[in-house]
Amino acid sequence: MTLCPECEAAVVNHDLIAGEIFPCVDCGTDLEVTTLEPFAVQTAPKEAEDWGE
Ligand SMILES: [Zn+2]
Repeated sequence: MTLCPECEAAVVNHDLIAGEIFPCVDCGTDLEVTTLEPFAVQTAPKEAEDWGE
């Protein structure tokens, strides 16, 4: 378990992989898994999803 960098809600790893982006269940911010051991996340850069548009 780690904490959301935006709202500090508990974030639990549920079959996530390194580099996966998922929304925080509490604040909805996109988070990216940086490492699995230990489990850690960072705020995902929003620009990445807009590429190609
Ligand atoms: Zn959050």
